[in-house]
Amino acid sequence: MQYCCKTLSDISGRNLSIVTSGQRIYRYFSINRMFMPANHLSSGLLLRCLRVVAMLTTVLVFCGQSAAQCLFNGPSQYHSARSMVDEDTVFTIQVVFHNLYRDESQQITSAQVDQQIHQLNLDFNRLNADSIMTPEDFVSVAASCNISFCLAVTAPDGTVTSGLTARSTDVPQIGFTGKYYQSREGGQDIWAPSHYLNVWVCEILEDGGVAGFAESPYEIDQEKDGVVIDYRYFTNLDSTNSILGRTLTHEVGHWLGLAHLWGSEDGCDTDDGLHDTPQQETRYRGCPVFPQMSCESTDMYMNFMDLVDDHCMNLFTRDQRELMRSNIMTYRSGLPGNQPCDQTVPIREHELVREIVVYPNPASHTLNVQMQGHNPGLELFDHTGRFIQAVDPNGSTQIGHLPIGVYFLRSSKGAVKKLIIAY
Ligand SMILES: [Zn+2]
Repeated sequence: MQYCCKTLSDISGRNLSIVTSGQRIYRYFSINRMFMPANHLSSGLLLRCLRVVAMLTTVLVFCGQSAAQCLFNGPSQYHSARSMVDEDTVFTIQVVFHNLYRDESQQITSAQVDQQIHQLNLDFNRLNADSIMTPEDFVSVAASCNISFCLAVTAPDGTVTSGLTARSTDVPQIGFTGKYYQSREGGQDIWAPSHYLNVWVCEILEDGGVAGFAESPYEIDQEKDGVVIDYRYFTNLDSTNSILGRTLTHEVGHWLGLAHLWGSEDGCDTDDGLHDTPQQETRYRGCPVFPQMSCESTDMYMNFMDLVDDHCMNLFTRDQRELMRSNIMTYRSGLPGNQPCDQTVPIREHELVREIVVYPNPASHTLNVQMQGHNPGLELFDHTGRFIQAVDPNGSTQIGHLPIGVYFLRSSKGAVKKLIIAY
């Protein structure tokens, strides 16, 4: 095995890893989250996150392989991390949501929380139905990250939890004030970030100009090492609403170390440091018509790490997967798999409703479904909460290939019907 790395220091004196064996030069920008003054956030511009200000060191990384390798402190560390897990191993991360609300309109429901976790699991495992919208140019690099999320079942004090804490607060714009992670200031103290992904759901700015932001794994602050989402950009169960919960997908990408596709600033000199995301001049918003070009290549604006509308984004890439998984092993190694928290979509008894009519039940080879009202989304999960397949909401679906057992049908609005498959 030929090791190619040596350590250099950047201009601030910090040690960096430099891989020098290859032809391609990557730039990796260490990005610090920094609050921008509120008056910079007006003009009707929706910023998905605040982590757009790179005031740090520009780090040149020479790398012949993948950028993810360059971000380690040396090849031995990289190889030891790689040898511990293969890329098919699913990392499961338990999540706690802290809802800080000033009034009823800012409260989130357990059904919303379940749906938000579900959306994360779809997006990080390329199970999202709109993955078919990924342009052919990029299908070969689109990837399942094999990272799953579940609601925390045990609180730090050992008590049982639903994975959602809720607290009334008098603090306006608490997400912007820095009080959100301090209970004594009207916020909610963090649960041990070595074990939980903490997501605060609250008002960031009164005018809704910021959807969310995240802490970087490269600059961990134990007091607030998580994600903040404005309550207006949390998964919404209203099917007419365009908010699908992908602000959290994007922010968890940052939390696991991904940068925006265009890098730290506009222009073709900076990018995200990854090989399989094309160089891109700046951010995209709305839902552009494919293709869009900049920096002499076709832009991957539909990547989760761009700023297009929720319904317009649909992929992570292989290098993004590799970087996130490497960062979990390096910076957040206590997170996966140390709690009885499988890759589940929690099923709540109170959601068992009559909205979904299923017959026969128990079923054997064919499942017939009739749903009340207009509700096009229906999915089948096994008893562990693992997604199995989509189901025709008003017709027949063949299920003869499925093992005997207990299953759950779940509508896109969170209604759940228990189903038994027997022969
Ligand atoms: Zn962002």
